[in-house]
Amino acid sequence: MNYLKPKTVDEMLKNIDENPDFYIFCGGTDLALKLKNSSVDGVIDISSLKQFDFITKTDSMIQIGALTTVNTILENHYIENYIVILSDVAKEFASHQIRNIATIGGNIVNDSPVADMIAPLLVLDSTVTLLGSKGERTIPLAELFDGFKSLTLKNEIITTINIPIKKHQHYYRKVGARAKLNISKLSLAMIKSEDKYYLSGTSLNPYTKRFFNVEKLLESGEFNDAMILESLEKDISPSGSFRSTKEYRFQVLLNMIKEGLDGF
Ligand SMILES: Cc1cc2nc3c(=O)[nH]c(=O)nc-3n(C[C@H](O)[C@H](O)[C@H](O)COP(=O)(O)OP(=O)(O)OC[C@H]3O[C@@H](n4cnc5c(N)ncnc54)[C@H](O)[C@@H]3O)c2cc1C
Repeated sequence: MNYLKPKTVDEMLKNIDENPDFYIFCGGTDLALKLKNSSVDGVIDISSLKQFDFITKTDSMIQIGALTTVNTILENHYIENYIVILSDVAKEFASHQIRNIATIGGNIVNDSPVADMIAPLLVLDSTVTLLGSKGERTIPLAELFDGFKSLTLKNEIITTINIPIKKHQHYYRKVGARAKLNISKLSLAMIKSEDKYYLSGTSLNPYTKRFFNVEKLLESGEFNDAMILESLEKDISPSGSFRSTKEYRFQVLLNMIKEGLDGF
């Protein structure tokens, strides 16, 4: 297997263009499994490009570099003060050792239906900045995903996650079989901002999406359990798996939505 470790961004872009089939390598916590189980031609290790490891704040936005680890997010005072839901997610993410190397960019690009960072970033209306040799572009995070494990990246890396700062209340809960090192059976990320609701969650669709029908229903102010379930039928398509049944996921999600609403 080929291993490249660019020292500069220009070198990285050249490496990507010359080797479009190589995988970007950051913490390697997801990639390690792929390297073990499949034939990977090569990797481009960008972990030493520290310019992509930062958290900054302006009046309207928090920006997180793609190489920022989950533990750095957990310890950051901007996140703790302005985007508490991300701190809550980080607290329940893997183990201390994994959080020390797992990056937010890797979590997004790995694009697993159980990836914990994507749902809270979607409900916060985040955008992502992408960089390739043709230049830089910023797109809504939702537009990065277009199917199960299918992304709209074109020989690009994610450099930055941009999170607008807005006044909001939040609810986050991850349900799994264990208290630690928990892979979610499902999770719910929900915020309320200026009487609008934003909901998303893990393990409920082939790739993580917002629950637009439930959002509209809650905004109307007139709903009951049956109506929420009816809207959920349009928003989610959970599969039954060894982790839990489809029916379980619908019922627990309904309970969590009601618990979240009670707290607002
Ligand atoms: C024991 C264990 C427990 C875990 N627990 C959790 C958990 O609780 N919750 C959870 O969500 N995940 C969990 N994971 C999965 C994993 O740790 C995360 O998804 C992690 O954030 C991936 O980041 P990484 O830097 O290790 O990515 P890598 O493995 O380096 O890369 C993952 C994928 O993203 C691509 N990539 C990485 N960064 C970029 C970038 N900036 N631009 C473009 N492509 C990029 C890579 O090519 C690769 O395809 C766990 C993993 C393990 C091994």
